[in-house]
Amino acid sequence: MDIDDNEGDDTKDGGGDMISEDNERLQRIRADLVSLTGGKIGGTIGDWELVSIEPVTHLSVRAGYGAARKLSFMQSDVAAILKYDLYISGDFCELCINDHKIQGNTVKDIVSRTSQDGGLSLLYQLISLRPCFGSFGPEVVETVSQALELSGQDSKYHFTVDTNFIGTSSQGRTYAGTVRSLDCVFLAQSRVADRCTACTKLDSLVINRSLLSGEAGIQLANSDSETETGKVNTSKPSHQSVWKLDTTDEQGCSFLCPQVQTFNCSLPHAFDGSAQATTVVHHRVEISDTLKVKLELCGKLVTRDFPQFAADHQLGPLLDRVAGLRLCVGYPAHRLMKQARYILNHVGRMIPEMRKLFKHYSVDEDFVYRIGGEEEIGTIRSTKCKIESEVGSDICAACRTLQQPIEFQ
Ligand SMILES: [Zn+2]
Ligand SMILES: [Zn+2]
Repeated sequence: MDIDDNEGDDTKDGGGDMISEDNERLQRIRADLVSLTGGKIGGTIGDWELVSIEPVTHLSVRAGYGAARKLSFMQSDVAAILKYDLYISGDFCELCINDHKIQGNTVKDIVSRTSQDGGLSLLYQLISLRPCFGSFGPEVVETVSQALELSGQDSKYHFTVDTNFIGTSSQGRTYAGTVRSLDCVFLAQSRVADRCTACTKLDSLVINRSLLSGEAGIQLANSDSETETGKVNTSKPSHQSVWKLDTTDEQGCSFLCPQVQTFNCSLPHAFDGSAQATTVVHHRVEISDTLKVKLELCGKLVTRDFPQFAADHQLGPLLDRVAGLRLCVGYPAHRLMKQARYILNHVGRMIPEMRKLFKHYSVDEDFVYRIGGEEEIGTIRSTKCKIESEVGSDICAACRTLQQPIEFQ
């Protein structure tokens, strides 16, 4: 990321009374902030905590704390977990969100509108600044990471992966990393937006993770016209799916689409952003001679209706819809898997109460995934696993209940 550091220099170079007036204002605001926090390190005002006073006064809102948790407008159940840091001295005032310095005039403008004892208002306005979320869908992040890795130093792409970004969803899914334009300014373009102008261009990314297309990868569709500034953009990078006719006989025919699914395999209570894993999901659709649809993900039956297909018998939209479904990955954490395997193999020796508990679990040995080049096998599922994950999640409702306390009767 290019850091353009002209801002501070301008202030120093351009002499005159204006500067000393600004500096005086900063000194007063700074004194006000220190007094508001009680002048003690660790003192707080709202969600802000005083970290240091001299030589630079530093106030910080811990990651995801209070107002530093920002809900996405585009995906309303996702929140970005952010850290806000304000550094203020006699001649500069700097805001960092997730350790990225906010460039441009935004912070300067807020300061210049702040009265000399307006520390409280300043803090409120800064924490209200909305971040740019970039494009944080795990498939996009994973595909772009791979594309950047392959292209090495002279990347032809105009975007990068920001590994500092963490998003959480109420569905229990955690997003590690986000794709940003190289011109990302880290602030959303307005109070009702999720992204900066540069990052809205990411909507024209088309990722193709279908293994049948030869090379799973990333393509930039030439749809610049769709991302004209000013246009409200609520779309996400689009997915392409490639299917093949697998079997056909008088009973019907089946279509197959193997796709890469990316997920995080750390446990919900101990999230580890680096534990990104991938698995190949075989999406299979069988259509009988009576036009009944049977759907499988990795050879496991998924029960759901397709009313649209029943009404119009359009194959294309049906296949696109199925390609968009995600497999429930259960809990593939390696250590927990080993323990669960052991316990389930020795369940006969347990007291009946414990046996009851382990009746809810099963170990799925067919689940194969890769993490950091290593292949791993197995995941823990609820015995009532629905195979298809909930929307915006990598887990189904039944497997999610394994996180809840279980009552013994
Ligand atoms: Zn951006
Ligand atoms: Zn499940």
